[in-house]
Amino acid sequence: MARIVGAIATSHTPTIGFALDSGKQDDPAWKPIFEAYRPIQKWIAEKQPDVLFLIYNDHITSFFFDHYSAFALGVDEIYHVADEGGGARKVPPVRGNAALSRHIVQSLVTDEFDMSVFREKPLDHGCFSPLSVLLDPKDGEWPIEIVPLQVGVLQFPIPTAKRCFNLGQALRTAIESYPEDLKVAIVATGGLSHQVHGERCGFNNTEWDEEFLDLLEKDPVALTRLTHADYARLGGMEGSEVIMWLIMRGALSGKVRRIHNSYYLPSMCAIATAIYEDDAAPLGEAESKAHFERIHEQLRGAEALEGTYPYTLDRSARGYSINRFLHDLVNEDNRARFHADPEGEFEAAGLSEEERDLIRRRDWRGLIHYGAIFFVLEKLAAVTGASNLDIYAGMRGQPLDEFMKTRNQQVTYSVAAADD
Ligand code: FE
Repeated sequence: MARIVGAIATSHTPTIGFALDSGKQDDPAWKPIFEAYRPIQKWIAEKQPDVLFLIYNDHITSFFFDHYSAFALGVDEIYHVADEGGGARKVPPVRGNAALSRHIVQSLVTDEFDMSVFREKPLDHGCFSPLSVLLDPKDGEWPIEIVPLQVGVLQFPIPTAKRCFNLGQALRTAIESYPEDLKVAIVATGGLSHQVHGERCGFNNTEWDEEFLDLLEKDPVALTRLTHADYARLGGMEGSEVIMWLIMRGALSGKVRRIHNSYYLPSMCAIATAIYEDDAAPLGEAESKAHFERIHEQLRGAEALEGTYPYTLDRSARGYSINRFLHDLVNEDNRARFHADPEGEFEAAGLSEEERDLIRRRDWRGLIHYGAIFFVLEKLAAVTGASNLDIYAGMRGQPLDEFMKTRNQQVTYSVAAADD
């Protein structure tokens, strides 16, 4: 079973990454930052976690207001470094533990946290700024995998502090019911007090930061009673991203010990770090197994339905490339290129020979078996002048006219726009 080996809290200000990249380790203004991370690096070396569950918020880099969500869990195998305007930092991409991510989503949704999931989204300083001082990449690779949780804290309404704490409690069960023997450390990022917008920018409150750190350890429930306005008043508007620390705290028990703590305020944002260890016993094996069974209860039996393939996260991961390719046909330029040179487009998308063959032959049934979702088949049909009825007949393995006879009306249609 997977186990939580402890938790780390750290600010994620871009100044950390900047100081590292510009070699400021011995500069008196920046030195305290590096010193603060040394005990954490040592702790990581001792505990040897396999995975960091990294809670962060994106700063309108990879997540924009065209689709903003409260809790988005990364389910990718690799996460690249985002370009935030001046070019991406020269640190390697980090591997994700996608199987653990999928299990966590399954568990959290069962526990009524309706998570969104993401892939192909580069991570910004919210993730890579702390990561680059927690870990040391060797030979172009980070030594530990991550599971990133993006919390939408920038466009209100955002989750309450209490919701974050409750999510953390559900996260603990999610991790401890994962059947593989993995050691997981929870990393909460963000804060502490700062405000970067408006006339109040430059606001800090060291007294509150200290009180927050104390309450987080000893009485986190008190922190769940504060409103977003309370957090903004006490720690600055952007400082209220510390509600993310309550997710980490919720994943620990009442028997928590803070074994390291640092605080430094060099410029705009108070930089704090902490390590927490938890003395509570993890979920027992029987409980973990019961929870695992429960989270798969909703679809149990569906596999026995003939010719039915629930579109699960596993299926989605397997069929991602071909779904991406077919979905992109909603773009007019892609359609034009596909018509002009389909083989060139297959090559550019890096599709496998099996995937190319399925598309070439319009093997509707084969595409479904492979992991394409029906709704991208509709698009391929619309692009190539086939009707939805062609897809249905193909999937059933019947000639079109034979399948048509099973319908009440002899009509065909597709999702293509009607001719004028
Ligand atoms: Fe932030």
